Amino acid sequence: MILDKFSLKGKVAIVTGSNTGLGQGICRAYVEAGAKVVGVSRRPSTETEEICGKNFYNVIADLSSVDVIPEIIAKTVDKFGRVDILVNNAGVIKRQDSIEFSEEDWDSVLNVNLKTVFFLTQAVARKFMEQKSGGKIINIASMLSYQGGVRVPSYTASKSAIKGVTMTLANEWAKYGINVNGIAPGYMATNNTQALRQDEERSADILARIPAGRWGTPADLEGAAVFLASSASDYVNGFTLAVDGGWLGR
Ligand code: NAP
Repeated sequence: MILDKFSLKGKVAIVTGSNTGLGQGICRAYVEAGAKVVGVSRRPSTETEEICGKNFYNVIADLSSVDVIPEIIAKTVDKFGRVDILVNNAGVIKRQDSIEFSEEDWDSVLNVNLKTVFFLTQAVARKFMEQKSGGKIINIASMLSYQGGVRVPSYTASKSAIKGVTMTLANEWAKYGINVNGIAPGYMATNNTQALRQDEERSADILARIPAGRWGTPADLEGAAVFLASSASDYVNGFTLAVDGGWLGR
């Protein structure tokens, strides 16, 4: 039955940035699809815990440093015995004219959005190989994996790079049954876009360009996130899928 291929029953997922926004939606969808989920966040994911129930376990970790990675893997295996899925969702954005952009705003974004993503992915892939299980890695990219944006140079650098690295890792690890794909959300109503949505002029410009005529929501991402974590996508590898209300096609 085709719908069985979308089930995540018996799977264990790690989702970073689980306390809010798109990450919270992905945790909810994965639990509903049958998975056990370890949500990683720097502050407690209390609301996500309430939504997901006993199949959700929160690990507190600040992903601005790679030092936390061994603990994330160890706590996941202690709690649920294995790892099958990783969603690199946690991300930060800094907005400033490029001419004024500081080294701190460059490094802080690249550390969370790219460096820790790469090394956490490497650690999880090593676990997949040790388990001889294969697995699914999903990197949350952006429209700025495809476009330049304005006033967000470090964010664009990180999200363009993650789309490229997604392809590199798929090339190297497909032979181990590991799928590495990306999801590029369009303009979604979360904390990440709060400043944009509060800027009346920018907000109106953005809305006018979205063919769907509305901002996206965390629920809009859930179908793609479940698909790419499930065996329904076993022959999809190295691709970054836009979930953008038609933005990129405009
Ligand atoms: P969000 O509500 O700001 O969520 C970002 C998540 O990342 C939060 O859970 C945040 O934790 C976490 N995070 C940031 N820095 C961290 C750190 N050092 N350690 C641990 N966790 C950290 O925004 P969102 O829209 O859901 O973003 C999720 C992903 O989608 C990000 O990668 C973002 O770049 C991407 N994205 C979003 C949009 C959009 O329109 N919203 C579009 C394209 C791509 P705190 O709550 O503690 O900050």
